[in-house]
Amino acid sequence: TDVRAQKTGPNDEFSDLISVLNRMIDRLQNLIAAQQQFVSDVSHELRTPVTIVKGHMDLLNRWGKDEPEVLDDSIKSSLAEMQRMETLINEMLNLTRAEQIPIENVQEITEIGGLAHRVFDNFKLIHPEFIFTFDDDLTQVANVKVRQDHMEQILIILADNAVKYSSDRKEIHFALSQTANRVEIGVQDFGEGLSSEDAVRVFDRFYRVDKARSRAKGGNGLGLSIAQRLVTAYGGEITIESALGSGSIFTIRLPLYREDAAHGQLSN
Ligand code: ADP
Repeated sequence: TDVRAQKTGPNDEFSDLISVLNRMIDRLQNLIAAQQQFVSDVSHELRTPVTIVKGHMDLLNRWGKDEPEVLDDSIKSSLAEMQRMETLINEMLNLTRAEQIPIENVQEITEIGGLAHRVFDNFKLIHPEFIFTFDDDLTQVANVKVRQDHMEQILIILADNAVKYSSDRKEIHFALSQTANRVEIGVQDFGEGLSSEDAVRVFDRFYRVDKARSRAKGGNGLGLSIAQRLVTAYGGEITIESALGSGSIFTIRLPLYREDAAHGQLSN
């Protein structure tokens, strides 16, 4: 008798098929659950600005028309909330797009040293109250196959957070280095830092340690999830080291692009 036929008889094949189907159903269920969670998160986030604007319109409607001060205040607050909604909607679109980048189609090569220095110089200009330092250990030109606007967006998100969640020690440190296969960019602050429970959650959509505080600073909890999705889409990774009260380091690692060699996966 044929041993192989015994091993993979019709019954075995049938149960293989069932287990494949079960796995597919599990994945579909997870996907549906994730979508439902997203819709629920988004509705929740949009509800606050809508409620605020509605409150102001109500106020205006009742007695704001004759009270220049109420009128002025309500219009300003409503505009600020509308602005917030616009940003939120744009960032959600960003997030969805980040999930859909077919990286094999990206042909743009970005030279990371120059770009990091430009972002750094801009932040120095915008935040003169901060001390900025930059350790550039690049030994040669470091190119990555990443769209320039995406790379810039990732760095801005990290530097922006370093500013937003700083404390009395207003210092921000950039570090740039490379190994044979990858380039590493670190953005360090000496601010409030994160507990280990919070640190693992900061890349989740809409996650904020202190909602009110983040909101007051114009945050919506999407920045780091966008950064993570972009970095991962390009075959890289983003990690965090943080300690409550003493600051955080966010590090991005991306595969170096070399024209001669096939590359893609992170190694070493
Ligand atoms: P946002 O800053 O808009 O709230 P992010 O996704 O960029 O959203 O960050 C999520 C949360 O992670 C922030 O609300 C904040 O609580 C925390 N966080 C991010 N960056 C830092 C940092 N450098 N130091 C301390 N906490 C941070």
